[in-house]
Amino acid sequence: MESSRSLPTEAKVVIVGGGVIGTSVAYHLTKLGWKDIVLLEQGQLGGGTSWHAAGLVGRLRTSNSMTRINKYTVELYAQLQQETGHSVGWKQVGSLIVAKSEDRMIQLRRTMAMAELFGVEAHLISPKAALEKWPLLRVDDVLGAAWLPHDGKVIPKEVPIALARGARAGGAQIFENVRVLGIESKDGHVTAARTDQGIIKADYVVLCGGMWTRQLGLSCGVTIPLYPVEHHYVVTEPLPGAFDELPVGRDPDLCIYFRGEGEGVMLGAFQESSKPWMVDRVPEQFSFQLLEPDWEKFSVPLANGKHRIPALAKCKFAKFVNGPESFTPDNNFIMGEAPELRRLFVAAGFNSVGIASAGGAGRYLAEWMLTGEPTLDLWSVDIRRFGPWANNRTFLRERVTEVLGLHYQMSWPNREFESSRGVRQTPLHGLLTQQKACFGSKNGWERPNWFATGDVKPVTEYSFGRQNWFDCHAQEHRACREKVAIFDQSGFSKYLFKGPDALNVLQRLCGADVDTPVGKAVYTGMFNDRGTFESDITVIRIAKDQFYLISGTSQTVRDQDWIRRNLEAGQQADLTDVTEAYSVIGVMGPQSRALLNRVTDADLAHQAFPFGTAQSIETGMATVRAVRITYVGELGWELHIPASQAVPVYELLMKAGRDLGVVNAGHYAINSLRLEKGYRAWGADISPDDTALEAGLGFAIAWKKSASFFGKAALLEQKQGRLKRLLVTFVLQDPGPVLWGSEPIYRDGQAAGYTTSGSYGHSLGAAVGMGYVKCQDGVTPEFIAQGRYEINISGKRFPAAPHLKAPFDPERKKILC
Ligand SMILES: Cc1cc2nc3c(=O)[nH]c(=O)nc-3n(C[C@H](O)[C@H](O)[C@H](O)COP(=O)(O)OP(=O)(O)OC[C@H]3O[C@@H](n4cnc5c(N)ncnc54)[C@H](O)[C@@H]3O)c2cc1C
Repeated sequence: MESSRSLPTEAKVVIVGGGVIGTSVAYHLTKLGWKDIVLLEQGQLGGGTSWHAAGLVGRLRTSNSMTRINKYTVELYAQLQQETGHSVGWKQVGSLIVAKSEDRMIQLRRTMAMAELFGVEAHLISPKAALEKWPLLRVDDVLGAAWLPHDGKVIPKEVPIALARGARAGGAQIFENVRVLGIESKDGHVTAARTDQGIIKADYVVLCGGMWTRQLGLSCGVTIPLYPVEHHYVVTEPLPGAFDELPVGRDPDLCIYFRGEGEGVMLGAFQESSKPWMVDRVPEQFSFQLLEPDWEKFSVPLANGKHRIPALAKCKFAKFVNGPESFTPDNNFIMGEAPELRRLFVAAGFNSVGIASAGGAGRYLAEWMLTGEPTLDLWSVDIRRFGPWANNRTFLRERVTEVLGLHYQMSWPNREFESSRGVRQTPLHGLLTQQKACFGSKNGWERPNWFATGDVKPVTEYSFGRQNWFDCHAQEHRACREKVAIFDQSGFSKYLFKGPDALNVLQRLCGADVDTPVGKAVYTGMFNDRGTFESDITVIRIAKDQFYLISGTSQTVRDQDWIRRNLEAGQQADLTDVTEAYSVIGVMGPQSRALLNRVTDADLAHQAFPFGTAQSIETGMATVRAVRITYVGELGWELHIPASQAVPVYELLMKAGRDLGVVNAGHYAINSLRLEKGYRAWGADISPDDTALEAGLGFAIAWKKSASFFGKAALLEQKQGRLKRLLVTFVLQDPGPVLWGSEPIYRDGQAAGYTTSGSYGHSLGAAVGMGYVKCQDGVTPEFIAQGRYEINISGKRFPAAPHLKAPFDPERKKILC
């Protein structure tokens, strides 16, 4: 590479790290026409984690965006040799996933159904057909298999070399043996990369340092939560019947993968529980190195491998690879511009899919840098999904033991992490635990999902059908519809936004008109220039130039980043995160007014306290901000309470409401209640891929407000044309099954979309879900009404009725009284 040349002193972009990811970012930036790109690698290209990967490249992932990333990667690898003259050893050998349990077969059926929608060819095949593809397999305990003919493998160490060649041909300069020691910044912007051979001034720095990236982030105050974990595979000596073109095989029930490697077999493991690499810092000198073989830790996968491929019992092993690689708290990689430092981009933490994702990840990161925003919905990998709480080393070390294995664990609906729990607790946590809450975690917050009653234990027993909490959930759901329920919603993101320009900023960011009288609460989308959702928030005007903003639990960092990055020079408006300062108790249901009347002197009558308004009221000895708003579609108030007073307010409410039938209710009830009322959830039903019109939320846009707002032009243009997709709520006609989300939707027998969320609607007496129905010729309400719909649940299609209004109480009578 460029080792004989001296380092430049200035560049437009400095990329740190020459693994598959860094070289892919360099390659794609040059493809987009960017010049003056410098890539720095502390050792040699590919010498970090990339060189020793197993080389498995699959196209299908669990979401559309991630599948697009992988599909593009395959296309890139298939043509890279022709373009660069350097082979990456791409072989389209196909891949096989065998199932030995009935639940795994259900999961495969669900996966196959989604593959069709994501444009990935995949087939369910018999054990006999699986044996034909992989003749060394034992299949007497196999129930079936999935076959993906377009998957394949590469020689991982060749990929960074080929990408670097392509990048150099596009003008990038690549230097090996140069270590970046720190990032320099001024006024919140990156200014330079400091290396062991001098400083390079830069407009952009991109951290692609693999498992070293967390410590690079810490050195400049940026949260990049990842941690190295040991990942093991072995390669046999030549084995009769083995050959290089054997498909990539996976047996997730046995936590193993296997493929042909020359005349031998490679056998790798995703153990249920894995070993973090116990280092305080990842050593700088670790180029083309491995950790010591750990045959003991590999003993179970080895036994499983010998079971699935009996020929392994008699063979010798030529190689044991124990390679460390970085894992993140949620098994998704980390991409995007750091919210703490402008023009510092990150692409790291690839959780064993870095080779298979490098092409797409590099491309979409480059596009993100070019346009200033992601060009498709990358929320699942967006760096802004983590707050600083997630960067704690103890938290990470414990969490990553579970993450590696997740690749092969069952993808149960509502599956929760078991490790590193209890990181963020609301003041009610102890009380709710005593009352048999079963918690889930979101953005680190422990949130009650449901409450156990009778003999049921507060532990979720996973399945694809009705889970053990079904009846408890039904009670909570009905109590909220018929009486009154209390919800701990303290994880909600909350901010104070103040200053002479606060209103102007919000008017530009929000689709709704938030220039309201003091005390009004407005739900609104925040859009980008494409007219798609950056977030949705509730804006409460609390003074002429002061606003209290509320959004979903996961949006805390993202919203603040979006608001701050869109402040114009000289604008005076100050944003403060008050999420942890206030707890939120939702008091929801037809008896909510009666209950609150017992604990406050405030006038809660409809005239005195109308829907969509907020007031400061006294409840017992606490003064709280009561907001008459609802996400469950019932009469109710959200009480925003100083966190120190949440417990007495909760106790007061529970005591006062006893004879009104008050119950605790959890987030599963919120989900089913809101689906019945057609309320959208950000991150599931509305995302940066969806516009307000497609989401059926055009009514929440103030087209005529005097201030212009982001996305208005795009939305107006869309309004004048025909929508190609529309969000529809579906209710199953059969009262039996449950919807979870990610189930294909068929219109008149043709695939038309998939569910973005789902639950069981106990007031409707059937499963309820939402999903976008697509049609290139246009989607209108008439088109929706005229179709015959079915939803594919685990391979079986169930008739469903479409609704563009709320399927339950479509006129919203109950909340407006
Ligand atoms: C055993 C094993 C098997 C795997 N199998 C597969 C597979 O089959 N398929 C798949 O898709 N993925 C697989 N992976 C995962 C894959 O290898 C990684 O996700 C991928 O290599 C990560 O690439 P990267 O560029 O982020 O990291 P790296 O390859 O580690 O590159 C980061 C580079 O940054 C450099 N660097 C760090 N700090 C600095 C600094 N301060 N200055 C300059 N340079 C710096 C490092 O030296 C390193 O070369 C496997 C991983 C392991 C361990």
